[in-house]
Amino acid sequence: MFTTAFLDLAPLEEAGGTVVLPGSKSISNRVLLLAALSGGTTVVHDLLDSDDTRVMLDALRALGCSVVHREAAVEITGIGGRPHPNPPPEGEGAPSPSPAGGGPGWGRSARLFLGNAGTAMRPLTAALALMGGEFEMSGVARMHERPIGDLVDALRRLGCRIDYLGNEGYPPLKIHPATALQLDAPIPVRGDVSSQFLTALLMALPLVATTQDVVIEVVGDLISKPYIEITLNMLQRFGIAVKRDGWQRFTIPAGSRYRSPGEIHIEADASSASYFVALGALAATTDPLRIEGVGAGSIQGDIRFVDAARQMGATVTSGANWLEVTRGAWPLRAIDLDCNHIPDAAMTLAVMALFADGPSTLRNIASWRVKETDRLAAMATELRKLGAQVEEGADFLRVTPPTNWRAASIHTYDDHRMAMCFALAAFNPAGVRVRIEDPRCVGKTFPDYFETLFSVSRTSTPHVPVICVDGPTASGKGTLASEVARRLGYHYLDSGALYRIAGLAATRAGLALDVAHEHTIARMAEALDIVFTEGRVLLHGQDVTEAIRTEEAGMNASRVSALPAVRSALVALQQGFRRLPGLVADGRDMGTVIFPDAPLKVYLTASAAQRAERRHKQLISKGISATLPGLRADLEARDARDSNRAVAPLKPAGDALLLDNSGQTVEESVAQVLRWWEEKRSFS
Ligand code: C5P
Repeated sequence: MFTTAFLDLAPLEEAGGTVVLPGSKSISNRVLLLAALSGGTTVVHDLLDSDDTRVMLDALRALGCSVVHREAAVEITGIGGRPHPNPPPEGEGAPSPSPAGGGPGWGRSARLFLGNAGTAMRPLTAALALMGGEFEMSGVARMHERPIGDLVDALRRLGCRIDYLGNEGYPPLKIHPATALQLDAPIPVRGDVSSQFLTALLMALPLVATTQDVVIEVVGDLISKPYIEITLNMLQRFGIAVKRDGWQRFTIPAGSRYRSPGEIHIEADASSASYFVALGALAATTDPLRIEGVGAGSIQGDIRFVDAARQMGATVTSGANWLEVTRGAWPLRAIDLDCNHIPDAAMTLAVMALFADGPSTLRNIASWRVKETDRLAAMATELRKLGAQVEEGADFLRVTPPTNWRAASIHTYDDHRMAMCFALAAFNPAGVRVRIEDPRCVGKTFPDYFETLFSVSRTSTPHVPVICVDGPTASGKGTLASEVARRLGYHYLDSGALYRIAGLAATRAGLALDVAHEHTIARMAEALDIVFTEGRVLLHGQDVTEAIRTEEAGMNASRVSALPAVRSALVALQQGFRRLPGLVADGRDMGTVIFPDAPLKVYLTASAAQRAERRHKQLISKGISATLPGLRADLEARDARDSNRAVAPLKPAGDALLLDNSGQTVEESVAQVLRWWEEKRSFS
């Protein structure tokens, strides 16, 4: 996952290959709650691992549920689906009508933090209000702006006792044990703000549907019906057969009891699939983009995004649990569509509209205003930054594609879908850059979204940004370059390590490091099997991290690096590190030989005296004895060999910016390089 402040996307051109998508958020959190309400253990396969499922799992644990991660599966042991017998609240009426009790129970009090997960907040509120106990429910600031009043009203009318701890109608909430529950009359709930209120009641009321049918009546038009279908489908899997009359009346039969299916597989997230369906439709494709884990057999409403994408021109073929997409009509065809049935995936359509042959209108999307952010406002603001004309209505959006694309820094409002759908703008035909702010927000539903996107996206090599940091031995290149890479989310190449490894391999093979063995060492260098992983360096599977860091290994590296055939042998390997989203490379000839077209080249110029002092401190702190004059003599010998060799001698590239970091802290030199980078890439 990218945890950087922002992620710059180079202009992208093509896409192709296969993606395996993470599990559906909607199904995951429903399954977790139902497994917790059921008796026995449910083994959940392919559960989504993301912020929203993590808060749900934490909540279930806090309630006393057993949660065990076993290999790829999660095992949930539930409570057996009966509320606590209610102690009569002080001075108030009788206990609830169905205190069957028995079996392991949930804790009777807990404070739950539910982040920004609506799929956890709403259903847990309903379940805990019926369960009996004292519970406090809170979330992030945005969660406290997302309405829950209609659900609380419905629950209160039943006899549940829920207080608002902040603003009326919004979390945080305090739940107390219910008084006598009124289950005879149909329970009204509004369906036109969020379908999650109905979902919450459907999932929780089987707890108390023991001796009589429980009926829910939807007031107002029900939005996002496909999500209710998922709820009914999951309830069915857990033994609850809800009777549905149209979309107005739902009956939970008397005697309903949650029964674990034992094992359950979560299908991949259809909303997450929308980004890759769109990608296939708008990127030039050499081979089709194949999406695995979700397909025509999906129970998720957002799978119908595929129809909308087809309408815009995508060519999509599908099987029960896969999709294959290629570009069809190009530019895409503008659409005018009622998106009520695909509220989340419709955000992807708004970005696809940038690539259409005219204005597109997305209608009936008022629910966007109460999601992770006010998505109507956010979408309009950010699309405009790219040069689109946007009309934002109360419940619609009209997008006219840009005539002049503009590079833009996209604010993401802590909304995963804003980040994910706007990444597709990087395929703009004008080749302007797109910056995604706070990319970690995708962690809500798809932590590896950008990695997955890069794995199937291609662009011509010159588009992949490279920052070169060259300079002499012990100038602090490695520390500076790796930190700059970390801040930008870019790959990092320590080219010196390659020469160190080549020197080590040759020495271990008993070769003298001289011209007589130049070609043997070069062939060996070409075939090196090197893996950089989590700060370790593996050579042919063996950890050589420490072995290549000795002073002797440095000197050997300097020797092999003076052999022209060895240098040529390592060129392709080094250039192979230039991958999306970008690279920071350090060495001696990054700017002059390996990446001559790099947009930013930095050359460090600290004096030999200062570098020797730095190295001396380093060694002393590691408990290695060394003398200052000795170190300085070694450094100067290496400088001399590096600077005087016939090929790629150490010197700044003509267009390099010189940085004397002698008196700077690491943070100061990092800040300087990042400033230079910003100047090159301005997103004004
Ligand atoms: O940077 P480091 O000290 O790890 O590099 C070890 C040696 O490898 C250097 O002294 C230099 O001779 C050689 N080298 C090189 N070209 C590079 C990186 C390192 O010649 N790009």
